[in-house]
Amino acid sequence: MAGLDRVVVVGASAAGVTTVETLRREGYTGALTLVGDENALPYDRPPLSKQVLAGTWEPARTLLRPGSAYAEQDITLKLGHAATGLDLAGRRVTLSNGEEIGYDGLVIATGTRPRRLPFGHHLAGVHVLRTVGDALALRDGLLRATSVVVVGAGFLGTEAAAAARTLGLDVTLVDPLPLPLAHVFGDEVAKTIADLHTERGVRLLTGTGVTGLHGDGAVTAVELTDGTLLAADVVLVAIGAEPVTDWLAGSGLPLDDGVLCDATCQAAEGVYAAGDVARWFNPRFGALMRVEHRMNATEQGMAAARTLLGARTPFAPVPYFWTDQFDAKIQAYGVFPAGADVVVAHGSPADRRFVAHCSVRGRVVGVLGWNAAKQVRQDRLLITPV
Ligand SMILES: Cc1cc2nc3c(=O)[nH]c(=O)nc-3n(C[C@H](O)[C@H](O)[C@H](O)COP(=O)(O)OP(=O)(O)OC[C@H]3O[C@@H](n4cnc5c(N)ncnc54)[C@H](O)[C@@H]3O)c2cc1C
Repeated sequence: MAGLDRVVVVGASAAGVTTVETLRREGYTGALTLVGDENALPYDRPPLSKQVLAGTWEPARTLLRPGSAYAEQDITLKLGHAATGLDLAGRRVTLSNGEEIGYDGLVIATGTRPRRLPFGHHLAGVHVLRTVGDALALRDGLLRATSVVVVGAGFLGTEAAAAARTLGLDVTLVDPLPLPLAHVFGDEVAKTIADLHTERGVRLLTGTGVTGLHGDGAVTAVELTDGTLLAADVVLVAIGAEPVTDWLAGSGLPLDDGVLCDATCQAAEGVYAAGDVARWFNPRFGALMRVEHRMNATEQGMAAARTLLGARTPFAPVPYFWTDQFDAKIQAYGVFPAGADVVVAHGSPADRRFVAHCSVRGRVVGVLGWNAAKQVRQDRLLITPV
């Protein structure tokens, strides 16, 4: 570790926290700074659309570590300040308060931010969901709402619709696709997700887009492609996320739908990336990937830290994801390329307990379990490397 005395990690969440802790665990003893733009101790996001929205967890329960853990590991926390620029040649990061921090090694873990509609976000009652503040504002809105429209039936939208419906609200879920998540998991799984929601009383409007949000100060209605107006006093816009790389523009770092990295999570000399923001070459699947899943943030944080310390091991995980909606726990390993065959291999969707396999040219590349944790863990071993 000669010449490695100052490490800076930008982004104080799942990937950033894992990175700094792995560095210490693997024996790095130099200066270690974790920079985060949120004015809060690092916390976990998956509970925000589940337990925090449902009101079963206080936000404090989402903290990744108690506040004392950072000082105990000699990690300097700089919270409430965004990194605003990177000088690659001079090895310096600039912060929003004007401070410059020099580094020998830099890990970028700035994650993603929600995409927004090109209209309507100035209206009260229109929400996105990424931060603990977003979750509390949305919960507060739900507690006073009667009609909720969720725009986007991806993972986040379906989870939030389930949470709002469980609170007893009138919920409409709108998506331009014919079935929720059909582009990810194929029609049969998507149909089961659609059935789950409609059986529980969510009004599912698929095959239609949103063209406007109406209201005077506060939202009152959502306009659909065909001109229909849906009454709404809360609207959640859940139309995906984009990697946070604007602060790196012009730095010379390769950026293309994320920070582009090699198979070891290295982006440039002394610079690495991890978590939702990193797009790296996964040699197991022979493809560039950017994975917006919680498990990947941990695994890639570990991998980036080890590369920084001199290891040259490729990061070649089988991606893992889970989502909880009503009484369904859906878990998926591997990849689900567009157009691949997805067939039910165990159980049946009608019984709401099954495992489906996703195959490309006869090789299993992904497995999905629906309330079938044991079987899906076994079947993940069928995923064949390229
Ligand atoms: C509501 C919600 C529910 C989810 N549920 C699931 C789930 O059920 N299962 C699952 O697998 N995954 C889930 N995810 C995804 C999972 O939470 C993410 O994959 C994970 O948070 C990624 O961690 P990260 O550290 O890479 O990025 P992030 O969690 O996005 O953290 C990045 C951090 O960097 C900060 N930052 C950004 N720019 C700067 C800057 N310039 N300077 C300083 N700091 C900066 C951000 O504010 C943020 O704190 C969910 C996500 C959300 C939002």
